[in-house]
Amino acid sequence: MKGIIIAIDGFSSTGKSTLARQLAHKLNYTYVDSGAMYRAITLYFLDHSIDLSDKVQIVKALEHIVLTFIDNKISLNGEPVDEQIRSMAIANLVSEVAALKEVRKFAVAQQQAMGEEKAIVMDGRDIGTTVFPRAELKIYLTADEHIRAMRRYDEMKIKNPTISMNEVVENLKHRDLIDSTRDVSPLRKAKDAVILDNTELTMEQQLEISYQWALERMKA
Ligand code: C5P
Repeated sequence: MKGIIIAIDGFSSTGKSTLARQLAHKLNYTYVDSGAMYRAITLYFLDHSIDLSDKVQIVKALEHIVLTFIDNKISLNGEPVDEQIRSMAIANLVSEVAALKEVRKFAVAQQQAMGEEKAIVMDGRDIGTTVFPRAELKIYLTADEHIRAMRRYDEMKIKNPTISMNEVVENLKHRDLIDSTRDVSPLRKAKDAVILDNTELTMEQQLEISYQWALERMKA
């Protein structure tokens, strides 16, 4: 069967990364968490006090950023940062950084290069629309707002026990709004994407449905 590209997009905390990772594992495909790239860039910008309104500073900073994935975990200039990029400080700024034209150009070029060999599952916001508009399978993942907030809260609480549900809800709303209204590559369902609402599905069920879709596209 031929190797295909699988794009998984959707709002924050719809479970994209979980599905993408499990699907890639089941298919023996490469998994790429594109959000981790925007988060790592945000970490660099924060650490180096980059002024987000200064285009020259942004372009210069990007020249000093090398992102690599080892065992699905991202490194920034050789340093593993997968834990660090999941903090609330990063979550609060990442959508502003990801909305910058220069940042998107930088990240999208690398994401497209990673897909050249196909056999890849990538999750994000613009994978089916901008990064791989010709992906063989595009999944647009959705879930009830309350369920999304609960999932993110349970995940964040482990590392940050003082976090409040309100903080999590506000962050999700903030990111969803910016991600879907920005000028460059806003989050949209690609016309040819299949919608998968996992509100009432178990992880096993959503994996099985997606796996069957992938097999169909691989045979096509
Ligand atoms: O997927 P995750 O929630 O980790 O992504 C963090 C942020 O990165 C998103 O809220 C969004 O602002 C940005 N992002 C993006 N395009 C992608 C993936 C993530 O703009 N393809």
